[in-house]
Amino acid sequence: MKKVVKFGGSSLASARQFKKAGEIIRADKARRYVVPSAPGKRNDKDDKVTDLLYQCYDAAAEGKSYKKILEKIQGRYEEIIQGLDVNLSLDHEFANIEENFLKKAGRDYAASRGEYLNGIIMAAYLGYEFIDAAQVIFFDEDGNFEPESTNQELKERLEHVERAVIPGFYGSKHDGSIKTFSRGGSDVTGSIVAKAIHADMYENWTDVSGFLVADPRIIKNPEVIETITYKELRELAYMGASVLHEDAIFPVRKEGIPINIRNTNRPEDKGTLIVESTVRKPKYTITGIAGKKGFCSINIEKAMMNAEVGFGRKVLEVFENYGISFEHMPSGIDTMTVLVHQSEFEEFEQSVIAGIHRAVEPDFLEMESDLALVAVVGRGMKASRGTAGRIFSALAHARINVKMIDQGSSELNIIIGVKNGDFEAAIKAIYDIFIATEL
Ligand code: ASP
Repeated sequence: MKKVVKFGGSSLASARQFKKAGEIIRADKARRYVVPSAPGKRNDKDDKVTDLLYQCYDAAAEGKSYKKILEKIQGRYEEIIQGLDVNLSLDHEFANIEENFLKKAGRDYAASRGEYLNGIIMAAYLGYEFIDAAQVIFFDEDGNFEPESTNQELKERLEHVERAVIPGFYGSKHDGSIKTFSRGGSDVTGSIVAKAIHADMYENWTDVSGFLVADPRIIKNPEVIETITYKELRELAYMGASVLHEDAIFPVRKEGIPINIRNTNRPEDKGTLIVESTVRKPKYTITGIAGKKGFCSINIEKAMMNAEVGFGRKVLEVFENYGISFEHMPSGIDTMTVLVHQSEFEEFEQSVIAGIHRAVEPDFLEMESDLALVAVVGRGMKASRGTAGRIFSALAHARINVKMIDQGSSELNIIIGVKNGDFEAAIKAIYDIFIATEL
């Protein structure tokens, strides 16, 4: 059994948190490869070390005073080292980092030091080998991740290494310069390592006990999702539910390696298991609810639209010409509605409207702003009757007017458009009918 374990920033923010991570790792021999993030926030008012590193580098690069921030960063690591009682000094590393900042080694280099230093501490604390991610994770000169060469190198390197720490978030280009993934990218590193060693499981340790059925800012203490498929996860993540970096799915998905989201502060919780497919029955008909505000709709009417070949394409081309992606496009016989992000649309509003008039000469065109989309996602919906009925009766009871309905042909999700002002109430009504009443 081989497991890759990734620990997020809040799980490694202090010596106390580090100790919890250490205990988790030691509790299971299969936890052989460890991917740490940089130290995160210890409390609400605290800073993430990654943010401090960006700040420090920007100040140094602009010739402003940066020493205070650098000392603050070093202080964070010293505190961890002392609390763990490991025999380690990072003085030399910090001297090096300062020198490279002044040589303008780049913002990516700066940010990556958060994970790099945490990796060194973690390796010393556990007695594991330290492998610098710059030696095993590669990017091309345009900064795109190189999966093949990375996989090959990691495989060869780890084949004979029983236990290792590989810092998350970064790698290197061929010229040796450091490149990071986008923010939260240590999740991606964990996934890449899991793929390379054919791990049985990729454990992603964070500060929540898994994916929640709904946003805890809207639903008090929502249920945790026990098992979710990659497809369901993608739907929910797209609609704003975030625990895992989106790109972390791809390397392990093809290999059939499950991801287990776990809580460092509550290791006894099983967390959420993310799998390619499963015969496990979901606990509830729906797996999760997520949503986003800030959409607007452009409703177009034209008599005999249905007979006009190319009508839809011409309309969508206008949006494309202004670089606006559309979210949904429900249609009637003589009507068509295009739903877009309000923030993307506003700037080009009048040009798009003029473009549509020119392209298809509609009889009537109307816009509506401040709409929200709610996605009800669940593999269990396919096999059960009446899901849509329950959703809409719940919304009707909550006196919510439904503006749009879209059910994908996969029957994996139902998307509902409501006014922004009804967003929270809609989620609550759906949660109540499917989860709260079944508890
Ligand atoms: N430390 C990086 C960030 O704050 C990467 C990570 O934590 O995954 O985005």
